[in-house]
Amino acid sequence: MQQDSAYIIKITPEAPIAAVTHGGRAKCLQRLVRLDIPVPRTVALSFDAVHDIAAGRRMPDMAALLAPFQSDRLLCVRPSSEDPDWGGPGAILNIGMNDALHAAFSAEIGEDAATRLYIRFVRAYAIHVDRLDPDMFEDHEDEGPDGLSQALTAYEQETEEPFPQDPAVQLAAVLQSMARAWEGTTARLLRQAKGAPADAGLGLVVQEMALGLGRGECGSGVIQLVSSATGRPKVTGRYLRQGQGRDALKKGAKSVFLERDDRGVSLEELAPEAFEKLKEYTLLMRQRLREEMQTEFTIVDGEVHVLDGVRVQRSSRAAVRIAVALAQDGIIPRPEALCRVEPRALTEMLHRQVDPEAPRDRIGQGIAASPGAAVGRIVFSAADAQAMASRGEACILVRRETAPEDIRGMHAAVAVITERGGITSHAAVIGRGLGLPCVVSVTGLRFELGRERLIAPDGRVLTAGEVITVDGTRGEILAGEVPLLETAQDEAFTALMAWADEYRDIGVRANADTPADAQIARSFNAQGIGLCRTEHMFFETGRLTVMREMIFADTGEDRRAALDRLLPMQRTDFIELFRIMQGLPVCIRLFDPPLHEFLPADRAGMRELAAALSLPLSDVTRRVAALTEYNPMLGLRGVRLGVTLPEIYEMQARAIFEATVAASREGAQVVPEIMIPLVSARREVELIKTRVDAVAAAVRNEKGRDFTYRLGVMVETPRAALRAGEIAPHAAFMSFGTNDLTQMTYGLSRDDAGRFMSTYVQQGVFPEDPFHMLDTDGVGELLQIGASRGRAARKDLVLSVCGEHGGNPESIAFCRDAGFDYVSCSPFRVPVAILAAAQLRIRAELQDSTLRIR
Ligand code: PEP
Ligand code: MG
Repeated sequence: MQQDSAYIIKITPEAPIAAVTHGGRAKCLQRLVRLDIPVPRTVALSFDAVHDIAAGRRMPDMAALLAPFQSDRLLCVRPSSEDPDWGGPGAILNIGMNDALHAAFSAEIGEDAATRLYIRFVRAYAIHVDRLDPDMFEDHEDEGPDGLSQALTAYEQETEEPFPQDPAVQLAAVLQSMARAWEGTTARLLRQAKGAPADAGLGLVVQEMALGLGRGECGSGVIQLVSSATGRPKVTGRYLRQGQGRDALKKGAKSVFLERDDRGVSLEELAPEAFEKLKEYTLLMRQRLREEMQTEFTIVDGEVHVLDGVRVQRSSRAAVRIAVALAQDGIIPRPEALCRVEPRALTEMLHRQVDPEAPRDRIGQGIAASPGAAVGRIVFSAADAQAMASRGEACILVRRETAPEDIRGMHAAVAVITERGGITSHAAVIGRGLGLPCVVSVTGLRFELGRERLIAPDGRVLTAGEVITVDGTRGEILAGEVPLLETAQDEAFTALMAWADEYRDIGVRANADTPADAQIARSFNAQGIGLCRTEHMFFETGRLTVMREMIFADTGEDRRAALDRLLPMQRTDFIELFRIMQGLPVCIRLFDPPLHEFLPADRAGMRELAAALSLPLSDVTRRVAALTEYNPMLGLRGVRLGVTLPEIYEMQARAIFEATVAASREGAQVVPEIMIPLVSARREVELIKTRVDAVAAAVRNEKGRDFTYRLGVMVETPRAALRAGEIAPHAAFMSFGTNDLTQMTYGLSRDDAGRFMSTYVQQGVFPEDPFHMLDTDGVGELLQIGASRGRAARKDLVLSVCGEHGGNPESIAFCRDAGFDYVSCSPFRVPVAILAAAQLRIRAELQDSTLRIR
């Protein structure tokens, strides 16, 4: 077999070493060597070499492998996977230790230290190489000569062989065990979960040990120049005198601070020169490796040795601050800083989060429908939520599922959990809009709502008033109060978002129904409102009743009376939205109230409604029965309501136009966008357009002011996508409502899918919940068909997505490739969408320029 020259290679400045052949650690060590940082002698084994060892095909020539090292030194072996995040088997230290070296080291560094090294090696070898029971080797480390002889005896009894004395034999066995560990199924699954390809390779590095034990100031530790939690400058780390590897970080270790600290002794005091050198090396790594690094070091008699450099572990907020600081210091360009932050990580900064260090007593889990975390007392009704909030106490609303009458309760609560629902059901959509943590389709926790209690899987009973924590980011319910981390919209976040805004080349708007939503959208730099769900404007107290009155009206006259009361409310709403958005586009969707969301669900609700409408209860019951639909999501919704009861959309059009005139008088010229929901046929659009045009003409006349507006359709039914060619001539824009479009393409209820979605995903029927991640094959094909047929019929047709997918980075990539003009998503997802959009453009341009250079 041909052996490539880099199969086993000493790390020197010129050696042909690359992360893709020898792994990230080998490459990083070479960089450190090039920077003249004192790295102990190291040899790298390539992926091919390790693969051959694992397969039993070929062992390296041990004499050649050991040749670069001094025979009286100990060695360690560390993994070197291509991406350090993919992990690898644990390092094994002190290889080469045997009876002879033990005697030699006893003279050099003292018997105690030599014995500890030997015991430690026997233990690691027994557990990781011979796979012996760890319990048998516990606690020998500090027991001196007796401990050593016990460990050696235990080894011999278990393996029926004396502990190997030949360093070549020891090293060969260590290499074999580490190579095989990488090929094991569990290790493979673990790294694949972190994004590693199935055939990811492992390199190994064999390094001469700087001992950290012995005479003079000896020890080991880690240092970094920023805090992993915040990313702010702060010398962080620990040092353990007479310690090895990462022992300084072990729980209970008697390690000391690095920087001078009131709480105790520090490395700065023990070895000031070494401390300064370490800071200098770590700063040099930052500048030349272009990354915030953690330095693993050993001090031998006051002298610093750098064993390794790894990327500093970082929270989301630290990732943003580190990337921004590197760009601001001129170390990396801005586009690179933008690409170093995972867009979804921004979500974590915009909402409070469960402290990752805190213990979690999980009592339920479900779909993570709206991110963030909150602690509060359990309440089982919207009224109780309001009552508790008015007492200034945080509460968590627990419902089977939510309906418009729960909105007030949702506003009052700090989080919501529901037994049913999916990622696009009522609680989820409203939760995301309000920035309220929400978990739907909860399992594990039993909902006994009739008895106002929840039962945890271990039988614990939780009644109203008990405190729980909702983790909407992970979709978990935790018992008791768990510590939370605060939000972090600091100057680093603001800088990053401003850069992202410059780079993105697809628009990002927000789905906003209320002035509060619109303010948030503006603060995140959304380029307008892409979807204002007008029926959501009637979820508030007082308004809901008028809305119901309108829906309930038996006669045209009754309906008009209710509409007359709704008109001024709508007009005020729109004026306020236009004011806040200051001339940016505002796309208003005409009413799309699935009737079941607006009907009272039980007798008490009907009684309440009867009282509010001054109707006999029997009338209300009869009317509810008449309006009840078997399948309300496919019933009298959207444009169907507009066609059958035209006065509703006429009222809305009038409110929009009157608001346009009023807002344009006092500020920027407003050009409202009016969107027709749930269209499936051209004729629907023609009918609505004619009526809206007539209202516009009437308002122009009455007000003596001219204005323009744009009318478009929402593509939410497969038929609208297929017939986009004949619809487009009547529409200035088409916005794909991928929530309903997904529901209708799959024939899958968006409210009930939660019940079996996880089984479907687990069994690989769907790669992902299609309500969460756009199904680019099926629903995506409809988007492409709709877009191309629409644009063929009307070149200037504006295309967008306003379903929940609009805030999802993968879906944004699809929309950008398909030539869409913008995406629209809930306000809190706007930053995620902006960053994702910027990254798409940067990566596309990078690919283009690479292609051009080739
Ligand atoms: C959609 O269907 O994608 C949409 C945005 O509308 P809604 O969620 O209000 O039905
Ligand atoms: Mg819809």
